[in-house]
Amino acid sequence: NTSLHELDPEIAAAVDAELVRQQSTLEMIASENFAPLAVMEAQGSVLTNKYAEGYPGRRYYGGCEHVDVAEQIAIDRLKELFGAAYANVQPHSGASANQAALFALAQPGDTILGLDLAHGGHLTHGMRLNFSGKQFNVVAYHVDAATGLVDMAELEKLAKEHRPKVIIAGWSAYPRELDFAAFRRIADEVGAYLWVDMAHFAGLVAAGLHANPVPYADVVTSTTHKTLGGPRGGIILARSTDFAKKLNSSVFPGFQGGPLEHVIAAKAVSFKVAASEEFKERQRRTVEGARILAERLTADDARAAGVNVLSGGTDVHLILVDLRASELDGQQAEDRLHEVGITVNRNAVPDDPRPPMVTSGLRIGTPALATRGFGAEDFAEVADVIAEALKPTYDAEALQARVRALADKHPLYPGLNK
Ligand code: PLP
Repeated sequence: NTSLHELDPEIAAAVDAELVRQQSTLEMIASENFAPLAVMEAQGSVLTNKYAEGYPGRRYYGGCEHVDVAEQIAIDRLKELFGAAYANVQPHSGASANQAALFALAQPGDTILGLDLAHGGHLTHGMRLNFSGKQFNVVAYHVDAATGLVDMAELEKLAKEHRPKVIIAGWSAYPRELDFAAFRRIADEVGAYLWVDMAHFAGLVAAGLHANPVPYADVVTSTTHKTLGGPRGGIILARSTDFAKKLNSSVFPGFQGGPLEHVIAAKAVSFKVAASEEFKERQRRTVEGARILAERLTADDARAAGVNVLSGGTDVHLILVDLRASELDGQQAEDRLHEVGITVNRNAVPDDPRPPMVTSGLRIGTPALATRGFGAEDFAEVADVIAEALKPTYDAEALQARVRALADKHPLYPGLNK
C-alpha cells in the first residue's frame, strides 16, 4: 500500500514535473490531447492485473467475467459511435492496429499504395524502416506541390499501373479532408482493398464535423488518444463483418498476447464522452481554433516574415506552416515557440530541402487547447503570440507573459495538484 511518492520518489518527481509542464505550457502538438480524469482512473485501475487472451465470452483464462463486461461495452460503444458493424478495441497502439489491419488484408510481398511519409503519411503506411516498408512492396502517392492537396490523378495513375492489394487513405500531417468516395472508386477500379487510417481526425468524425470513412473503407483503424481524447491506444473498425475473423486473429494471436483491459476500460469511458454534446462542442472549438490560426498566419505581417500556411488553410484540427521563405528553419521555430511556452513539433514540408531532424515547417494543432476550454478569443490570442514569435525580432518576455495568462485562464487538472 506504499504510495508512488514513498516507493519511488524519482519516478514520482518525473510525473509531478510532467504535470506542471502540461499545466504551465500551451500544448499544440496536433496528435496530443488531455484525457479526462475518469479515463485515467479506469486506466490506473485493478484491471491492469488481469490476463484475458481471447475475446469477450471466448477467453483462454478464468476470471474474465468483469473484464468481459468492460470490453463488450467498449466494442458496442465504438460500433455505435462510428456506425460500424465490426470493432476491435485490443490493439495496444495505432501502429499495432495498423500492423494487424495490413496483415489481415495482404501478405508480405504484396503491393500497398500509401501517402509518402515526407508528404504527410504515417510510418506504418510504407516507410522504409517500418514493418510496412520492410515487408511490403510500397508505392507512394504525393501531395501536389502547388496546391498542397493529395494528387488524386497521380493516385489513380499509380493504382492502375501497380494494381496494389491495399490502398491506404490517412495521414499524420495534412490539413484537409480526404475524398473517401474518390478513394473507394479508385480502389474498386483496380480491385484493391481500401484501408482508412483516421487516427488524426477520428474525434472530428465522431462529432459529425468530418466525413465518416467507415461506409467507404473495407477496414478503418485509429488511435484513441489524438482528437478522440481517450487513453493511448488503437482500434480497428469495419463496415461489415466480412473481415471480422481475419482481423480478430491478426490482433490476437497474430501480433499480441494479453489485451490491456485497463486501457480497454479507459477506451470505453472515452467513447461514452465522445458521444456527448460537450464533446461535439469541444470539437467545434478545435476546428474553429485551427481556422483562426490559419487566418492569422496568412496575414500580411506573417507573410512578410516568410511564414506561409500549406494549402492556404485547414479543414481539420491542425495547420502546416511552411517556413521555406523564413529565416527560421523548423528546429529554430520549434525552439522559439518552446521558449515562449508553446509546444509544437517541427515537420517536413513536401520536398523539404532540409533534413528530417531540422525540416522547414511546423505542425500546429488545437485539440489539447480546446480540451482545456480555449474558445475563439483565446485561439486568436495564441495565434497572435505565434505570429509574433516567428518574426525576426520578438519580445520573449512579453510573449511568455501572454502565454502564462492563457494557461492561468484555463487551468488543467486542478484537482491533481498536491
Ligand atoms: N496512424 C496515424 C495516422 C498516426 O498519425 C499515428 C501516430 O502518430 C499512428 C497511426 C500511430 O499511433 P501510435 O503512436 O499509437 O502507434
